[in-house]
Amino acid sequence: MEHRKVIIIGSGPAGLTAALYAARAELKPLVFEGAQPGGQLTITTDVENYPGFPEGIMGPKLMDEMRAQAQRFGAESKFETVTKVDFSKTPKEVHVGDTIYQADSVIISTGASAKLLNLEGEKKFMGYGVSACATCDGFFFKDLEVAVIGGGDTAMEEATFLTKFAKKVTIIHRRDELRASKIMQERAIKNPKIEFMWDTVVEDVVGEENNGVKKMTHLKLKNIKTDESFDFSVDGLFIGIGHRPNTDLFRDIIDMDENGYITTKGKSTYTNVDGVFACGDVQDHIYRQAVSAAGTGCMAAIDAERWLADKGIA
Ligand code: NDP
Repeated sequence: MEHRKVIIIGSGPAGLTAALYAARAELKPLVFEGAQPGGQLTITTDVENYPGFPEGIMGPKLMDEMRAQAQRFGAESKFETVTKVDFSKTPKEVHVGDTIYQADSVIISTGASAKLLNLEGEKKFMGYGVSACATCDGFFFKDLEVAVIGGGDTAMEEATFLTKFAKKVTIIHRRDELRASKIMQERAIKNPKIEFMWDTVVEDVVGEENNGVKKMTHLKLKNIKTDESFDFSVDGLFIGIGHRPNTDLFRDIIDMDENGYITTKGKSTYTNVDGVFACGDVQDHIYRQAVSAAGTGCMAAIDAERWLADKGIA
């Protein structure tokens, strides 16, 4: 059975930064990259807010560079998905199907996934007009018209943020009542650039493709009270219907909040299980940025290294 001092589950900026730091501490970390190697940034195009890249960098490229940097110091990646963990044993166990890996410490960086509408056009134009992150992509919609889907705090926040760039933002909500907190609702309602479209669902995202260049052009919408379908022209679509932490694997094993995000102790990355640390979006539903995830990844590796040293393992 293969044994490591540190196993990292998840390969976004948090996991790969944890791998870099653990590798430089000579812990030879093993990273399970999971179903989406590189994490959420691999479905974006230009990343312009990661420090150190004044001209911006493509999301997938940034993640390849992070992986290469970690591997330079001895981190190893397996492009496999962990199917089960058993943290009750010493050493802890990480299962990939029938194969069991042993680890003295585990860093969880499985991230979160933006909830999507699961429409064909949404998938096709993701990164080409469709986005699930206003902070990442809002800048590309200067003086354009965009729509935001959702009626919760995420949608209100994204819509309000987008008014810095877009000339008009339409919030499309499936009911006639918002779920968002009063203060966020009021901020959006008072904003002259924001309009609301009630009782409306998106049936599809439509666009064009010329010489391999894709661009969304409009939405197919339906008013669910009148059953009327219609086209709505917009340059961009932001899905703001919430996120889901990727924590199914750890249910009833690790402490989580009511939304399924792993809870960490104080300013550390310690979870309630000794020797198990969590970093990145899986424990942060507030900032959700690549750079803040990388920051907590660094913290998790340092926490793990010190924990191992205290146990006389590293
Ligand atoms: P919520 O679950 O609160 O809201 C999701 C919204 O999306 C709802 O209005 C829901 O509609 C709508 N929705 C869900 N699925 C679909 C679908 N398939 N099609 C169309 N619409 C859909 O998620 P949020 O991410 O907004 O918020 C999650 C938590 O994070 C909350 O506790 C929130 O307060 C917090 N948060 C806080 C922020 C802040 O304080 N700055 C910012 C962002 C989030 P319906 O209402 O009909 O169910």
